[in-house]
Amino acid sequence: MNKKYRRVIIAGNWKMNMLPSQAKGFVEELKKLLPQAMRGCTAVLCVPATHISAMGSQRFRRISVGAQNVSEYDMGAHTGEISAEMLKDADVQYCIIGHSERRQFNGETDEQIRLKLRRLLDAGITPILCVGESLQQRELGLTMEHISYQVKAALASLSEEQVREVVIAYEPIWAIGTGVTASAGQAQEVCFNIRELLRKDYGALISRKVSILYGGSMNAKNCRELLSQPDIDGGLIGGASLKVSDFASIIAVGCEE
Ligand code: PEP
Repeated sequence: MNKKYRRVIIAGNWKMNMLPSQAKGFVEELKKLLPQAMRGCTAVLCVPATHISAMGSQRFRRISVGAQNVSEYDMGAHTGEISAEMLKDADVQYCIIGHSERRQFNGETDEQIRLKLRRLLDAGITPILCVGESLQQRELGLTMEHISYQVKAALASLSEEQVREVVIAYEPIWAIGTGVTASAGQAQEVCFNIRELLRKDYGALISRKVSILYGGSMNAKNCRELLSQPDIDGGLIGGASLKVSDFASIIAVGCEE
């Protein structure tokens, strides 16, 4: 799915699933199923923290390693937290931030997400910033108002060069883990509007470069229509990234020339 100006990114979000011992076999299997040519596209696995060092140190060359969270602090007395520098040292290249599950169940605020995003950029890790509306917000016609707020709050005070390094994932909350996917038209509309927002704030050059992913019950069957939309540059995939053949199929579609 050639996007001309942008990399296509197919990122799996394993959430709190899979054991480290199972992960190795999964990755070995996935490597066998990856397409020969992966020019212009990147496959990422965002794994639980306990899996990172094993995956990173083995350098699964064709699959980038991602984390699912990072501390907003740089170091020190923050029991249970993991810093961006630690992730970098473990060869992590991508990190999800602002996932709706963390916003909802861990009370993560826009300000924390902004700080996390900066930590990642400073460490040279690509943030995958998740934004998305609830069903109620969609029904009230507040989708873009809410998403604009989330995007602007997270990117506040970043330079144009820094914004260019950020990946944004549009994840409608009502579509995550529900089996209900946004229609290709709905997903394209929001991704287009996010790009417009970037164009107004940072200029056309930057907005053309930022990869915007769709996430929410994407699977091997519906990915082609979603990924062929002009402003959808990849997917953030939960459930289907746990099934090696499904995830490989989505990567294959994303990597089509
Ligand atoms: C997610 O958790 O980011 C996600 C998109 O999950 P699912 O694909 O299972 O809806």
